[in-house]
Amino acid sequence: MTDFRPRTPRPTTKPVAYEGDSSAPAEGWTRLPPQTGLLIRVPAGSMLDIVDPCGQQVADLYLACVDDPMENLSAGRTVDYNNTVYVSTGDRLWSNRSTVLATIVSDTVGIHDLTLTPCSQQTFDLLYPEFEGAPHPSCFQNICDALSPVGVDPDRIGTTMNVFMDVWTSPDGELHIDPPPTTAGDRFSIRADVDLFAAVTACSAEKSNNGTCKPIDTRVRSANGGSSSTPWPLGPPA
Ligand SMILES: [Zn+2]
Repeated sequence: MTDFRPRTPRPTTKPVAYEGDSSAPAEGWTRLPPQTGLLIRVPAGSMLDIVDPCGQQVADLYLACVDDPMENLSAGRTVDYNNTVYVSTGDRLWSNRSTVLATIVSDTVGIHDLTLTPCSQQTFDLLYPEFEGAPHPSCFQNICDALSPVGVDPDRIGTTMNVFMDVWTSPDGELHIDPPPTTAGDRFSIRADVDLFAAVTACSAEKSNNGTCKPIDTRVRSANGGSSSTPWPLGPPA
């Protein structure tokens, strides 16, 4: 970590107990194995919880509206309307049509990125020369695979909400990516304001995850407190 790091985290929720660990998720949760992704339907009013069960792991999150999957998460509008690049509890995630898609309701970390696109094959080709262009899993491909069944074209997938990813810039604008500051059980939760398709990944980029790609746990729970794991396919939207 560099001394002139210009910001401090905004953890806005105290740690929440989590029963899962590195060997298995908690009951009712779905585990994304390392370097994979998942499509989840989040009905309006329901919560989407994302937990880092091991620590130091990024989860990319991308959202599309069930009513019209051409309406997607806009990182640019989210930064603009919240007047910050460091969103946390109470901040809202906006669409490319300036609709509120979701509200952050819990965040034990306070460090997430809204500036970088999901890691892709090209990321590894350009930034990991040691891989010599070999095929590599990526968040972009995993998000494409997750959202293609519901009609989201890969060209619609822009900057993701990179949950737990620690990206910052020094005063001269140089970009820095530090290891995720998470410890096992750290949590990030949103409430859907409209019916959503959510693509969630366990990030595939070794350098963004302190050298080792690890799992991510997730679940959807209803507003009345009921908990259910609802990975796609669940059938058509209600
Ligand atoms: Zn990634």
